[in-house]
Amino acid sequence: MKAGKLRLPRFFIINMTESNFRLSLLGPWRRFFQWLCTLLLLLIPWFQFQGKSLLRIDLSNFSLHIFGQILRIEELYLFLIFCLVFGVGFLLITMVFGRVWCGWACPQTTLTDLAEWFSRMIGLKLKDNRLQGAIWKKTLAHLFFILLSLLVGANLVWYFVAPQRFFSELASGSLHIGAWISWLSTAVTVYLDLALIRRLMCSEFCPYGRFQTALADQGTLTLHLPAEESYRCIECDSCVNTCPMGIDIREGFQIECINCGRCLDACRKVMAPGQQPGLIHYNFGTEGQGVKALFNPRVLLLSVATLVLLVIFVFAIGNRQVASLKVSVSHTVSAKVLKDGQLATFFNAWVNNRGTQPATYRILARSKSEGAPLTLKGQTSKIVIEPGNNRKLDFVLVTTALDSPLPVQFVLTGPAGEEVAITDAQVSPVRSH
Ligand code: SF4
Ligand code: SF4
Repeated sequence: MKAGKLRLPRFFIINMTESNFRLSLLGPWRRFFQWLCTLLLLLIPWFQFQGKSLLRIDLSNFSLHIFGQILRIEELYLFLIFCLVFGVGFLLITMVFGRVWCGWACPQTTLTDLAEWFSRMIGLKLKDNRLQGAIWKKTLAHLFFILLSLLVGANLVWYFVAPQRFFSELASGSLHIGAWISWLSTAVTVYLDLALIRRLMCSEFCPYGRFQTALADQGTLTLHLPAEESYRCIECDSCVNTCPMGIDIREGFQIECINCGRCLDACRKVMAPGQQPGLIHYNFGTEGQGVKALFNPRVLLLSVATLVLLVIFVFAIGNRQVASLKVSVSHTVSAKVLKDGQLATFFNAWVNNRGTQPATYRILARSKSEGAPLTLKGQTSKIVIEPGNNRKLDFVLVTTALDSPLPVQFVLTGPAGEEVAITDAQVSPVRSH
């Protein structure tokens, strides 16, 4: 193929001298990114931040460990806001970048790539989604799939049981039955996926793929072969043969396309010997309009929604209490009038240290009406609590005899005497029978 015989735009001809033509491929970048995401998923459960898991759901304490913070179930609204930010942000990314997640980051794609790579490496062929080759090679491939599936299953469990504890309990035979069930059921599901389903997951089953159909927009990033360049196509079919989803991108945008960029690389390689650029490009807009296609109401609306939710999340985190205090009148011990005529009311309290360091707390009582002295007796000072832990306490509030209910306020003070949590309660008079 000679460049001089083709009607090429001047821009291309200027850059097509032997000395300055450079073949740049996306494949190495895609693989780097896929492995980076995979390694992060594998390693996050091993990392600690300020002595706590970077990310772990602690089912026994109903809490979430996230970047050194411990969110207990009462604070899961923060997690829900985070999920909303993540969910709406993910919608925005999908609307702007299409199925780029599927091709560049999704663990399903990475696992399938790995399974197909191993199968090819041992001499198997993949035709009509079936492995073809010697039986011992197929057995070897399935053994590899089983190992991979067990690793993926264990990786999921590590987000609930710290990996160090997982391995020590596994070695001592004391791993919880729930962990076994989660591990093995995930491993079986992943094995069936790798052995039988593979790319069909992306085209037929994955709800995200279907969802993307509704989100594709006039500004979405797609692989595109501009009509004005189609005359350069030499009909080699490399782009079709390399496509893991079995589609022909020359026919325009198709929802099965996972934006992996393999067809783009294939075309660049085919065109490189003739020192011509590839024909296939990433472009915003299903019609190749370019970045300006992003300025449309749907993208702008979703951008604003993401930003607003992000601000709410940052505000909620910034105003998060470092400790919480819950107080309620004891249901097991009734209030009584003491010999000196004073009223003793029994309370239960729950103090939660939401910080990352052990802390010593104290509980104080304040009357909300003038001239009602309050005295606390019991476990109300030197309350030492480890980070993320909860402690139940019992104490008595002594007041003068009452004719009507008295509103009171309990204050939790921190190590430096600062007020860290306040809760309202009420002391009721004792009725004589
Ligand atoms: S058309 Fe291209 S980008 Fe889309 S899935 Fe096939 S190879 Fe990947
Ligand atoms: S790889 Fe490029 S030249 Fe070959 S068929 Fe596809 S678009 Fe045409």
